Amino acid sequence: MSYLVLARKWRPKTFSEVVGQDHVVRALQNSLKNDSNHQAFLFTGTRGVGKTSLARILTKALNCEDLVNGEPCNECDSCLSINNSSSIDFQEIDAASRRGISETKELLETIPYMPTSSKYKVYLIDEVHMLTKESFNSLLKTLEEPPPHVIFMFATTEFSQIPATILSRCLQLNLNSVTLEDLKKQLSIIFTKEKIKYEDFALTLISEAANGSIRDALTISEKIISFSEKNITSSVVREVLGIPDDELIQGILKNLKDKNTEELFKILDEINNDSSVKSIFIDLMDLIKNISLTQFKNNKDCSYDSTLLEIEPGTLQIFYQLCLVNMEYIDDSPDPKGLLEMTLLKMLAFDIEEKKNLIIDKPFNNFDWSSVLTELKLSKVFSQHLMQSNGFIHQKDFILSLPKEKKVLINETSIKDLESKLRTFLSIEDLKVVVNTDYDASRSPLSLKEEKLKKNNEIIEEKISNSKSYKKIVSELNPKIKNFDNS
Ligand SMILES: [Zn+2]
Repeated sequence: MSYLVLARKWRPKTFSEVVGQDHVVRALQNSLKNDSNHQAFLFTGTRGVGKTSLARILTKALNCEDLVNGEPCNECDSCLSINNSSSIDFQEIDAASRRGISETKELLETIPYMPTSSKYKVYLIDEVHMLTKESFNSLLKTLEEPPPHVIFMFATTEFSQIPATILSRCLQLNLNSVTLEDLKKQLSIIFTKEKIKYEDFALTLISEAANGSIRDALTISEKIISFSEKNITSSVVREVLGIPDDELIQGILKNLKDKNTEELFKILDEINNDSSVKSIFIDLMDLIKNISLTQFKNNKDCSYDSTLLEIEPGTLQIFYQLCLVNMEYIDDSPDPKGLLEMTLLKMLAFDIEEKKNLIIDKPFNNFDWSSVLTELKLSKVFSQHLMQSNGFIHQKDFILSLPKEKKVLINETSIKDLESKLRTFLSIEDLKVVVNTDYDASRSPLSLKEEKLKKNNEIIEEKISNSKSYKKIVSELNPKIKNFDNS
């Protein structure tokens, strides 16, 4: 199967088959239903989003002998001749290769002749911004008063280069870059109909590489199909597109998170190509960005190892910064891999230092027992009990204070578990947990949480009562309320 087969075969033939341009399709179908007499259309948008495909569908719709609900029938002589590029009344011109005044004049000379078999003669000029100034000027004269049987359609990727005089005579239709979701959906429809097996994540990779262009998505797919014998896996896509292995990138971040230096450097040993270091930096930043966004949206649905979501948002920010800063030196570095290693070591060092600064030898107030508790992954019941505890560091002891009724509920094994997890978390090897019942209820995670919630509510209330629109409503209502009182 060649690229031409796939791309041509799946070129949309009706408005409803156009991907990701609902707003433009709606505008065109409305204009067809209302018989509005636009004689020039300008399709703008980045490459491969469907500008000329839409122009062809519109041409068919304008000339179709059996238009149904604003859709061309694709069966009448007129539709068929446009579909197989044999229509004499539809001229497609590439302005990139025919930009001069003599070529434009030649074209304009054919305009007075009536269409041979259709209602309209349609001229589609692609990449119209390439026309010379003289060409635009001669075109403008025709655009000012076109014969009723002629329709112009222009397509361009460079909207800003079109003269204002031309713009003002066109119905302008701005096509969007196709979203990742729309690209994925379209590829899955095509692959299913073509009986090609695929992994869902492979579609994500192809769609990301296509960067908003449906045509690029199909071109890339074509390349991959020729490698993959009708089974598109993400590893084949990576191989063809030269994307570093996703597991490698996730592995780096996971071992940074777990402070597993040995495993981290085992992964780095696998990298024996300096030229891939830059894409590792880029992919790492991309993953960090995606994790941050997922955390921000509070979304549990992710295409990577979900334990990575446990990395603190602040730590992710620092990791991102470190990648960004160090990546700048890659091109000048005699040892790109060494640069990557140093960057990762900084990440490891940063995180440990930060936690130590936060906790050790700091007064009680700076130790945030609530957030440490959520990091420890204790059993659910035990965590619930500890929500009503206090905890702080005193030299090498961790002082856990509990209300009496809770202390009797907690067994020795749970305390040992807490001790071992705190040792790892705080990097204090001989830390001891000391339990007492000298208890200040107001400092427990539960009360702090309630206090925070209360404070938030107060802030919200204050913001509302200070807002301009709230004051406006009150000031408008007050006289009415007073009148009502007086009556
Ligand atoms: Zn038709």
